[in-house]
Amino acid sequence: MQVTVIGAGIVGVCTAWSLAEAGCEVTVIERNRGVAQETSYGNAGMVAPAYATPWAAPGMPTRLLSMLFATDSPVRFQPTLDPALWRWVVRWLGECRTTRFKRNKERMQRLAFYSRDVLAGMRSGHGIAYERTEGLLQLMRGERDVTMAQTTIAFLKEAGIAHQVMSPAECRVREPGLSDIAFSGGIHLPDSETGNCPLFAKHLKTLCEERGVRFEFGTTVEQVQTEGDRVRLRTSTALGEDHRTPDAIVIAAGISSAVLLRQFGVRLPLYPVKGYAASVAIREPTFAPLASVMDEAYKVAIVRMGNRIRIAGTAELGDCQLSLETRNAERALATVLKVARDWFPGAANYQGASWWVGARPMLPDGPPVLGPTRHPRIFANLGHGSTGWAMAPGSGRIVADLVTQRKPAIDLEGLTLARYA
Ligand SMILES: Cc1cc2nc3c(=O)[nH]c(=O)nc-3n(C[C@H](O)[C@H](O)[C@H](O)COP(=O)(O)OP(=O)(O)OC[C@H]3O[C@@H](n4cnc5c(N)ncnc54)[C@H](O)[C@@H]3O)c2cc1C
Repeated sequence: MQVTVIGAGIVGVCTAWSLAEAGCEVTVIERNRGVAQETSYGNAGMVAPAYATPWAAPGMPTRLLSMLFATDSPVRFQPTLDPALWRWVVRWLGECRTTRFKRNKERMQRLAFYSRDVLAGMRSGHGIAYERTEGLLQLMRGERDVTMAQTTIAFLKEAGIAHQVMSPAECRVREPGLSDIAFSGGIHLPDSETGNCPLFAKHLKTLCEERGVRFEFGTTVEQVQTEGDRVRLRTSTALGEDHRTPDAIVIAAGISSAVLLRQFGVRLPLYPVKGYAASVAIREPTFAPLASVMDEAYKVAIVRMGNRIRIAGTAELGDCQLSLETRNAERALATVLKVARDWFPGAANYQGASWWVGARPMLPDGPPVLGPTRHPRIFANLGHGSTGWAMAPGSGRIVADLVTQRKPAIDLEGLTLARYA
């Protein structure tokens, strides 16, 4: 069976791998010159299934409103006249109700835990090294964070997820590089991990090629056309246009997936939510994080990646330009730097950091869309939002199962296009 995967982000590469493992003849089409050059490039690297949570949560609208006007706010909203933005916002507000939140969270975690196990199998089965560290420490600055954390702690207990609530002193034992900043404590999630997502994607691409997967870089899918039960792709390169008719296609085009879906009549409220990151070489390991920490007040992650630190977070909705030259970008980067300097001031010369902006492919309710679309030969693997790296290995396996008509290992309730029908 000939299958074409559109997009070589982490989701597309993992899909290609699982399809090849299932015996398919796989081609990956990617407009960039390599794998993981867009949203998968500079993320925080967290694979934290217990932390996989919808952003549409009870109390979140009020919390966001209170944060919007602070100069160091981790959230920015730039209203525009784009109707798709407002449709997304309205739907997102509806998903903040407690019942919806619980349902969406369960769906995300079902996939994220499965994905963690698939990732572990790939790692041990093929010896993929990707600057992995173990454990995630959520840090609470003050009483407000502690109050907010009670729901998380109750959930962790109820779900039987390993965790330890820690005093500031206990946090410092786990992360000795932490500064002398006064804070209220933390929650440690030992089963979470962090890894370099683009490095993993690069290694997996090599393994894919060893199994015969073809990567066509510098090639853009311009149009997905359907003719009865057949599917036809119009692609372009610097040399001209081409057409192909594979047996099946998988759309794993990140934020651009919505455009491709619309071409055969599927409308999804997929919207980019921008985030920013800084990467900087460690100057003194004594003062650097050993694994990963998450500042719960600012929702900024500080993560050890080899001999570098990655600091990533913030959310910006409205302006879709991926530019580091805007006023909002300047503010977001200042927030990211502030958080790093608060917790690990001596770890690096932060002025020398390299900056990045990426767009999370976000659906308003949280979980991605996997599997069949309205056309029998077109499959989706998209909308992974803020947890695409954590969900990619599992999503890839599930979509490959569906393409090859095998039964996925987990229940797909709420993880398919059916919920938007
Ligand atoms: C600041 C930040 C921090 C994050 N932290 C984490 C984290 O800690 N853990 C986590 O799990 N997730 C995190 N994420 C989210 C994660 O990075 C994304 O969910 C994930 O990268 C999405 O992967 P993707 O493959 O769907 O998209 P992408 O990586 O964007 O890949 C899509 C690919 O499709 C290609 N493409 C699109 N259209 C076409 C076309 N027409 N023709 C050819 N090619 C096309 C693009 O060029 C691109 O390479 C973070 C995101 C941000 C912004």
